Amino acid sequence: MFKENEFKTNLVTWFDENQREMPWRETSNPYYIWLSEVMLQQTQVKTVIDYYLRFTKRFPTIEDLSNAHEDDVLKYWEGLGYYSRARNFHTAIKEVADKFQGKVPDDPQQFADLKGVGPYTQAAVMSIAFNQPLATVDGNVFRVWSRLNNDYRDTKLQSTRKAFEQELLPYVQNESGTFNQAMMELGALICTPKAPLCLFCPVQTQCEAFEKGTVLELPVKTTKVKKRHIKQHVYIVKNENNEYLIEQRTQKLLNQMWEFPMYEAESNESIQQTLGQEISFNEKPVYTLKHQFTHITWDISVFVAESTITKNSLVLPENMTWMKLTDKASYNFPVSMTKIYNHICQSE
Ligand code: SF4
Repeated sequence: MFKENEFKTNLVTWFDENQREMPWRETSNPYYIWLSEVMLQQTQVKTVIDYYLRFTKRFPTIEDLSNAHEDDVLKYWEGLGYYSRARNFHTAIKEVADKFQGKVPDDPQQFADLKGVGPYTQAAVMSIAFNQPLATVDGNVFRVWSRLNNDYRDTKLQSTRKAFEQELLPYVQNESGTFNQAMMELGALICTPKAPLCLFCPVQTQCEAFEKGTVLELPVKTTKVKKRHIKQHVYIVKNENNEYLIEQRTQKLLNQMWEFPMYEAESNESIQQTLGQEISFNEKPVYTLKHQFTHITWDISVFVAESTITKNSLVLPENMTWMKLTDKASYNFPVSMTKIYNHICQSE
């Protein structure tokens, strides 16, 4: 672990000399600092500047904003998106006008109780406006701090956020606003996600990931996506010439690939409807398999028609055709369908 004082001095000195000019950095007014933090959520600095200037011109004080009609407030937010931010901010400002005599509370807990204030906004506004000893942990800080410590903990976990906030506490006992902004600015300008400028980094000598050559492996972000399970029924239909009915997909997933006709078990569509003919299939699936995509798992059951179909008795939809087994190579089958093909057709 590096020396705390040296690290902070290097970082803050760099920030003093290199920070970008932003209108909210010219003010100590907590209302303006808070507004900038709300606008900057999910939005880039260069987009926010114009909105911030127009908004503060139209609603220069907490009193002006608290007396404004919501439609008027939203008009000055139009184009920034995420309108719930504007509504929550407006509500919170009204609370400040009512409960705190129009002054943004400098008590972190009172501030956190206002509408729309999460842990990041709380730490940012409280530290920048009032130098309260709270560490901001946003995407930039997650990246910088993971790399500095060669830390492979998952930054998507609340426990990691809490741990980082604790570990950063020694640095925010004084000048917390400057330190927090310096960390975020380092992440935005130097310690960038894909091509960090380590050679120009003011804290390179204290960076463990740089020393170990692991910079691009960090930060760790695992996205735990809950997979959706879809039950799929696949139907094997054969004609008197030993040709199999196949269908070209029109859905976004595996678009244009070929498959044996497949229907979601819970959908209202059926192969009988598509073909306009009653076909009976064995009741129990002859084969089952799972196929995993990033966000979806298909649980596939395969059913086989009990008798062959007379080719000329069916008028096929445009995206269906009969496939000779010898022609299989000319059709693009996804993995799941190839498995079914191998299991059902090759065993014949
Ligand atoms: Fe980030 Fe590189 Fe600086 Fe380490 S040396 S903090 S990886 S920019």
